[in-house]
Amino acid sequence: MRGLTFQGNGNVEVQDVADPMLLSPTDAIVKISMAGICGSDLHILHAGEAFGFAPGARLGHEFLGTIQEVGSEVHGFAPGDRVLVAVGVSCGHCIWCQEGIRSSCEQMSMFGWAPRLWKHGGVVEGGQSEYARVPLAQSTMVKIPDEVSAPEHETKLLPIIDVMSTAMHGLVTGRLHPGDDVVVIGDGAVALSAVHCARAMGAENIVCFGHHEDRLAIARKLGATATSDVRDIEEITEYARNSTRGQGARVVIDSVSNSGSLQAAHGSVRSGGTISCLGMDHFMGNTASVNWFDQFVRNITISGGLVPTGLYIPRLLALLGAGEIDPSPMVTHQLPLDDAADGYRMMSERREGTLKVAVKIA
Ligand SMILES: [Zn+2]
Ligand SMILES: [Zn+2]
Repeated sequence: MRGLTFQGNGNVEVQDVADPMLLSPTDAIVKISMAGICGSDLHILHAGEAFGFAPGARLGHEFLGTIQEVGSEVHGFAPGDRVLVAVGVSCGHCIWCQEGIRSSCEQMSMFGWAPRLWKHGGVVEGGQSEYARVPLAQSTMVKIPDEVSAPEHETKLLPIIDVMSTAMHGLVTGRLHPGDDVVVIGDGAVALSAVHCARAMGAENIVCFGHHEDRLAIARKLGATATSDVRDIEEITEYARNSTRGQGARVVIDSVSNSGSLQAAHGSVRSGGTISCLGMDHFMGNTASVNWFDQFVRNITISGGLVPTGLYIPRLLALLGAGEIDPSPMVTHQLPLDDAADGYRMMSERREGTLKVAVKIA
């Protein structure tokens, strides 16, 4: 089969790779219809060697498709079922899975990601390919409801797997209540997902700060009540307060999580509010410092973390089925699998009008 592979820092390539096979009775094989290229895949493109990627490693952790084969211990699923696959493998029954943080599962491993990070789950090949092996399939896959299982819904489904789930994790751990105000720092796919989820969860004022007018236009389409491209921390603080009843937001989503964005988040958050850090700049060595003085005297909670996508996918599918969300405007491009490396380049260069590239496979 064909699959996208890492070929050393700065280089990915679609190649002929081995077909996946069932290795355990808890595995399933999924024939992939669509896969997403994620902002975190770009970290691998640029610096994968530092995370332990070797040439030939298959990338991609956002994919959906049709079950081809299931192992004898996978119950409730059958060949032909349409499924979304969570970004990480989880067992569903360890103490962490039961507490809802499946991303901290004892057997956690993320598809196509950082071999050194998952000590017990081992390496799981990515899904920017024609087929994927899904370990612990019963708790890692989620059935797509019939009413949205047709191919024309794929661009609505794809963002649910990672960016929308990540955004919802930030808002839920931020303790968002209907009527609260939300500020979003950043204009990437997670940021715009936070705007869209905040609207579905009943936020009142939703303010998004970014540097790209094309993306801020999508933010307004997805529910932002105000957007701004100001960069100066004092200007951000002033704009955020003016847009949130003079108080600052109950929840601030920091989709970047470096020192600059955290400063902007501190300026935008209301006393007693929460800053949810969802960015991955720390993966690139850019350690951010929380303003612990401000955190203490203004009673600010710092939240966020690696999303247990399996927890949020069913909730988001229900919102999609009810017509409360449609994240498809974030998928700005679709490419065939053999052109997937171009998708990495388009996203990496932040070409005008490019937010998220989907790889259409079957
Ligand atoms: Zn992702
Ligand atoms: Zn578990």
